[in-house]
Amino acid sequence: MSKEQRVAIVTGGSRGIGRQVVQRLAEEGYALVVNYAGNKADADATMTALAGTDVKAIAFQADVADENAVAAMFDAAEREFGGVDVVVNMAGIMPMGPLVDLDLDTLDRTIRVNLRGAFVVTQQAARRVRAGGAIINTSSSITKFSRPGYTAYAAAKGGVEAMTLILARELRGRDITVNTVAPGPIGTELFLRGKDEETIARIAAEPPLGRMGMPEDVAPIVAFLAGPGRWINGQVVYANGGAI
Ligand code: NAP
Repeated sequence: MSKEQRVAIVTGGSRGIGRQVVQRLAEEGYALVVNYAGNKADADATMTALAGTDVKAIAFQADVADENAVAAMFDAAEREFGGVDVVVNMAGIMPMGPLVDLDLDTLDRTIRVNLRGAFVVTQQAARRVRAGGAIINTSSSITKFSRPGYTAYAAAKGGVEAMTLILARELRGRDITVNTVAPGPIGTELFLRGKDEETIARIAAEPPLGRMGMPEDVAPIVAFLAGPGRWINGQVVYANGGAI
């Protein structure tokens, strides 16, 4: 691995799991690009939490599905910090509904952010990440749970899983690992929104560990894949407390 300071881009780094990944990588000494789509207040809160430390970080608004915006984000990382070592694809949305009457605009939006977005960011990462680096995608254990209501979301995440080993093989000789983390339910706005207390309690009780997963449960796994866990390559890591 590079002896220079390592640099990470975290898409969707402004809140939820991504924010925790930002904090964890900051603790490990990375310089950071904190990406977000539109909620500047959340990005500002993440940056405020880093202020007063010696962490180098910039926030960067970019729709992950917009190739020009994403290229500009990588340009900014290279300009500010000299290069990119780790790219964490954490941005995502989770519209739900039964397939039978799912609005096709919802399908398109889900595929656009969760699959095209991961593809576009990963394409820039494949071009620019330095030797010793890592690309980490985010899927969901829903690709295994197969619960009703998640077809569009699971289809997009299944695509992300399918890309992972192929890209790892395409990057042969570059010394770059490519992996996907596939969490089970994690107590963020994305998961909690629209669910009643009873549903949340039932889902929280499913893992043998007997509690709801939290961003703090996922961030160390991402950090491991970003750094020391280099012999894990081309894999999908299901992180759900044993709920499968
Ligand atoms: P979250 O709290 O809703 O945060 C989503 C993040 O993604 C925000 O930073 C948001 O930025 C950003 N984002 C959304 N659309 C974007 C776009 N088009 N371009 C750039 N950034 C965009 O979600 P989370 O729960 O942390 O989920 C993070 C990832 O984990 C997602 O990929 C999700 O599918 C996956 N996941 C979550 C769970 C769970 O139960 N929470 C389980 C399995 C997998 P803005 O606020 O600016 O929109």
